[in-house]
Amino acid sequence: ICWSEQGGWHRPRVQPYGPISLDPAAAVLHYGQEIFEGMKAYRHADGSIWTFRPEANAARMQRSARRLALPELPTDYFIESIKQLVAVDADWVPMADGTCLYLRPFMFAKEAFLGVRPAHKVAYYVIASPAGSYFSGGVAPVSIWLSAEYSRAAHGGTGAAKTGGNYAASLLAQQEAYDNGCDQVLFLDSREGKYVEELGGMNVVLVYKDGTLVTPDSKSILEGITRDSILQLAEDRGHKVERRNVSIDEWREGQASGDIVEAFACGTAAVITPIGLVKSNDFEIGSADAVAGELTMSLRQELTDIQYGRIEDRHGWLTRLDA
Ligand code: PMP
Repeated sequence: ICWSEQGGWHRPRVQPYGPISLDPAAAVLHYGQEIFEGMKAYRHADGSIWTFRPEANAARMQRSARRLALPELPTDYFIESIKQLVAVDADWVPMADGTCLYLRPFMFAKEAFLGVRPAHKVAYYVIASPAGSYFSGGVAPVSIWLSAEYSRAAHGGTGAAKTGGNYAASLLAQQEAYDNGCDQVLFLDSREGKYVEELGGMNVVLVYKDGTLVTPDSKSILEGITRDSILQLAEDRGHKVERRNVSIDEWREGQASGDIVEAFACGTAAVITPIGLVKSNDFEIGSADAVAGELTMSLRQELTDIQYGRIEDRHGWLTRLDA
């Protein structure tokens, strides 16, 4: 779908996958004016195809659009775009457990000019790709690298928007994580370098021994839809949930004293990943051979059971795509 200042949203269509042409002066190539979403289509045992909380992705994309001075795509256009693509790609939605069709809606400034201002011409696309199970050998705890030097998002910046620039800012830190034998990078807040924010592509949740789940509350992290759903499921089970600042020292001391009993990361791609080890230049939390926590794994099971239609969708989170 295209957007222009005069014409609004127009020209919705499904076209064969392939390169798109852009003017070399297209604003996105120079100023990074773009946003995206990540979601999945799941095939249920009866063959029907569903997606999870698309209204939440649409709303987040609208918030991202506001922050990046892009036009907001209405929720019904967003959901319709996914339905139309899946109608064409239905055969590509795999059946096996844990597999899905990954969906990537994105929007960018395509107007050609070299001044710094919001673009007047914008394009919105959705692409899709079948995805295998994230953990082929069973869900294993990951090691994460605490970045001492780099911030992902500054106070007042674009951290809460799903925009490429945030990921660009995280790439060097992600490479540093790999170089230190870790799978993901953990970012602290940009002002004090003290509070836990999130991983490069996942939110963080800590489980305390009294059953309370604690997750960082920050204006510079992405509000994960997986996290929101998991915390809802935990609340349904009677767990207390706290969204508040949590310092890296609280995590370190809590895990050393046994007050914190589980830690996990969550996001659309991996659903839930237990965190085994946090490594930094100065200290380590946990251990690389830690076993996945019990609550972590049972919340993971419950959420994936809802997504794959194996248990009742009591919150009305699923939207059917092929009917
Ligand atoms: N934080 C970041 C930086 C991410 O890229 C993602 C993945 N979209 C998340 C958190 C988790 O968000 P969600 O659960 O909506 O996938």
